[in-house]
Amino acid sequence: MKNLTDISELIKNCTKCELSLTRTHAVPGEGSFQSKIMLVGEAPGYYEDNSGIPFVGAAGKLLTKLLNSIALSRDDVFITNIVKCRPPNNRDPSPNEISQCSPYLSKQIELINPALIITLGRHSLSYFVPNTPIGKAHGTLIKHGGYTIYPTYHPAAALRQTRFSEILSEEFQRIPTLMKSLETKEEKPKSTNNQLELF
Ligand code: URA
Repeated sequence: MKNLTDISELIKNCTKCELSLTRTHAVPGEGSFQSKIMLVGEAPGYYEDNSGIPFVGAAGKLLTKLLNSIALSRDDVFITNIVKCRPPNNRDPSPNEISQCSPYLSKQIELINPALIITLGRHSLSYFVPNTPIGKAHGTLIKHGGYTIYPTYHPAAALRQTRFSEILSEEFQRIPTLMKSLETKEEKPKSTNNQLELF
C-alpha cells in the first residue's frame, strides 16, 4: 500500500508523458496529509517548475493571502494540481497528459479523503465535473464521486480582473462556514474520475 510520500516520489520520477522531458521539477503537491481541504489547480507554471512547489508565483501569492484571510496557512490544507509537470509555455495540458497524470491525483485524494475539494479555475472543475461552466458553478457545492467539490475562479483570473477577484475573496470567506456544515469527513468515496491501476 503506497502512502502520500511514496506517491510524491513516483511523481518526481514519472516519465509517463512527454512533459517529463521538459520539466525542471515535477510538482507533486504540498501541505497537510491530514487536511480536510484540498485545493486543486491546473498545472505548474514557471515558478512552480523551478521550485517543485505548487502555487508560488503571482497567483500562488494571492492564493496564500486568500487562505490567510480565513485564518488558514498553506500547511493547513493540501495544494496540488491535476497535472504535476509544467506544460511548455504554460499551454493547456493535453487530454493524454491529463489521463496519464490524473491517477496520481486520484490516489492523493483517496489517501487524504478531504471533506472539501476546492477546484481553482475551469480546467480543474472540468476534470472533476465535465461540461459544467465555471460561470454558473463557482461558489456552489457539487457532490461528485463521493466528494464535495467547491468550484472557484482561478487566482490568476482574479489577478487579471477585479470582478473575479471580488468573487474569489467572497467565496473564500464562506469556506469556514462550509467546513462547519460538512462537519466530519465523508465516508470513503465510491469512485473518482480515474481508477488507479498503478498502485
Ligand atoms: N497555476 C496552477 O494552476 N497551478 C500552479 O501550481 C500554479 C499556477
